[in-house]
Amino acid sequence: MKLVRYGSSGREKPGLIDGEGRLRDLSVAIEDIGPATLSPQGLNSLRSIAPESLPRVKGRPRLGPPVAGISKIVGVGLNYRDHAKEAGLAVPQEPILFMKATTCLGGPDDPILLPPGSAKTDWEVELALVIGTTARRVPVARALEHVAGYCVANDVSEREWQLERGSQWDKGKGCDSFGPLGPWLVTADEVADPQALRLWLELNGERMQDGSTADMVFGCAELVSVTSAYMTLLPGDVILSGTPAGVGLGRRPQRFLRPGDRLRLGIDGLGVQEQQVTAG
Ligand code: ZN
Repeated sequence: MKLVRYGSSGREKPGLIDGEGRLRDLSVAIEDIGPATLSPQGLNSLRSIAPESLPRVKGRPRLGPPVAGISKIVGVGLNYRDHAKEAGLAVPQEPILFMKATTCLGGPDDPILLPPGSAKTDWEVELALVIGTTARRVPVARALEHVAGYCVANDVSEREWQLERGSQWDKGKGCDSFGPLGPWLVTADEVADPQALRLWLELNGERMQDGSTADMVFGCAELVSVTSAYMTLLPGDVILSGTPAGVGLGRRPQRFLRPGDRLRLGIDGLGVQEQQVTAG
């Protein structure tokens, strides 16, 4: 299933994308797509609904993040070798974890707001994992059982605030609008192999990132397992699994976002995001 939330920010309604790519209204069946929806039982009850029995949604409404009530966003740093290299940093021996404030979440096509004083805002296309059942100290072999589905994410990052203002990264990761998620939550049964997905990003029509999740240093199962050793992952929690090479920080000369820039990014089978950059 491809689950979505549509409508104005803060007032989204649940929906799903049917086999023909049309948006259907799920609000007749559930109030919202949140943590309770993501359990195996919750998803199975949605699967029992025939999409064609749901009303079609007219027009092209704004999409919000496909899950409401996300309690935390865990980022993974330097999880692609070529990206660690372009950042001038060592490939980590153990996953580097950081937190992204949940207030940064946005819809897939919402504008990216450059915060006042920002000179180094950068892009990062990433595969996002969405937790479906509580994960606490889970072994690698069982870790993916806790994943409800996958999304495209842009881990927007202000590099000066991330790297030049103290020893941890969170200042540059959690600004409002720095967490576009979606367009869809694609349930895990429709992603045959999360380690075989192409992911790409274009700036003003020029391809900047073009990678494969096959090149992750630590795969999805390992990321869930390791993260769950340090903190309990709740249904709806998001893990951002890292970005391949091609970010602005790694270019010579470096290139950061300016008002008027347009980003387009996507992952095989998970849809495409499009963001306009504006002064915040
Ligand atoms: Zn990232």
